[in-house]
Amino acid sequence: MNKTVDPTELQVVDDGPLYAARKKVYPQSVSGTFRRIKWGLMAFCLGVYYLLPFVRWNRGLGAPSQAVLVDLPNSRFYFFFIELWPQEVYYFTGLLIVAALTLFLMNAVGGRIWCGYLCPQTVWTDLFYAVERWVEGDRRERMRKDAAKETIKLRRVGEIVLKHSIWLMIAWWTGGAWVLYFTDAPTLVMQLLIFQAPMIAYIWIGILTATTYVFAGWMREQVCVYMCPWPRIQAALTDEWALNVTYKYDRGEQRTSLKKANELRALGEPVGDCIDCYQCVAVCPTGIDIRNGPQLDCIQCGLCIDACDAVMTKIGRETRLIGYDNDINIHRRQEGKPPIYRIVRPRTITYAAMIAAVGAIMLYALLTRTLLDINVLHDRNPVAVKLADGSIRNAYTVRLLNKRGFDRVIAIDMDGPVNATLHVVGADSVTKDRPMIILARDTTTELRLLVTAPAENNPAKSIPVHFHVTDIGLGEVASATDHFVSP
Ligand code: SF4
Ligand code: SF4
Repeated sequence: MNKTVDPTELQVVDDGPLYAARKKVYPQSVSGTFRRIKWGLMAFCLGVYYLLPFVRWNRGLGAPSQAVLVDLPNSRFYFFFIELWPQEVYYFTGLLIVAALTLFLMNAVGGRIWCGYLCPQTVWTDLFYAVERWVEGDRRERMRKDAAKETIKLRRVGEIVLKHSIWLMIAWWTGGAWVLYFTDAPTLVMQLLIFQAPMIAYIWIGILTATTYVFAGWMREQVCVYMCPWPRIQAALTDEWALNVTYKYDRGEQRTSLKKANELRALGEPVGDCIDCYQCVAVCPTGIDIRNGPQLDCIQCGLCIDACDAVMTKIGRETRLIGYDNDINIHRRQEGKPPIYRIVRPRTITYAAMIAAVGAIMLYALLTRTLLDINVLHDRNPVAVKLADGSIRNAYTVRLLNKRGFDRVIAIDMDGPVNATLHVVGADSVTKDRPMIILARDTTTELRLLVTAPAENNPAKSIPVHFHVTDIGLGEVASATDHFVSP
């Protein structure tokens, strides 16, 4: 028999407020292996971003000499020796697929490596924190200054102005570097210096200056915690073997103060290695306590590993109480078994194989891509014309693509109706039976082709006609097929 529930007996569970005000984070400086890796990657990423537009690449006279350039007016993308046309945009699709798979592979091996070390939000926020520490001091000092509301003191005002000025300068350089990828960098720098740059450049610099300043200076960890979708996706993609920044509670608990821990050890009592010093929390750029287990807020930067290693070294205990590990190993250690690491497993092999396959397809397509191309479009109205002598003429619009960086002489041939003649409108060729034209470098050229079949060879119906263009110098050939139609 169903029991009727009295609504007054129901308990209201209070989960707390739906919105929690942000607690400002004051990450403390730290040194150690992961900090050094982060400094190195930051220098590399920023160096590449800021300096790449100034790298030159010789493509011949008249061609852009910038190694990496998005040439929007001419619809070209240059990347060192590669030049892509708009119709080759599928290479970017391939690149995006490889990038996504690489992210999945990183995640399967070492968790959020991207977030902790390479993501622009992390890199710029780290840089802005470094500036803040340099100007205002380390964690305790900054906390003290904020708590004391020292803003009225001249020295404090000076610090704040200096910090924001440096932040804005970095943000401005970030926006400035971005626009340099879209035009000749040295020329634009000169134009910017004399305030003669195009308005669109100032607009984009303004937008990127604002976003960098706001995201890295003000929003910081909130971008990672609230705005970015990757933590959620990553959490759904991960498996039990992925190595994440982990507090090894099997070793750390029961945590207690150093003094108490020493006393308990002297009595032969079991005690954990964690001395509850909160150093791992103090250095965390998102302000969390990794000892509470895996959290979406953890960008896995490894700085808490460095902080805890320093503490463990100081108190003479084994390092890596916090380290890249997983729950499987924690349970194995609790059972007295040695840890095992499975970096090579079906998931990582699958991702690596997919990256290799897509990469190989892209490389093959790149190495075998045609640098001479032809597209043919048959006239629709009329599809065919009967001339006074009984011969039939079909007309075609032909578009030729010369992707090379030099002009070349092209011969045009045709296989179609027997004894048919080919004529290029507007091109008086010296070789009457085989029209030749000069194809300008790095352009598309549109031609009108007339194919005329003599009266005695008029095809009874539509037959295929093949057009071939041949580079006389290099022997490169491109072909396209259409139809020759009788009225
Ligand atoms: S918990 Fe550790 S790894 Fe995670 S964000 Fe904080 S410092 Fe970085
Ligand atoms: S730094 Fe290490 S010892 Fe200190 S609280 Fe964190 S985990 Fe415990």
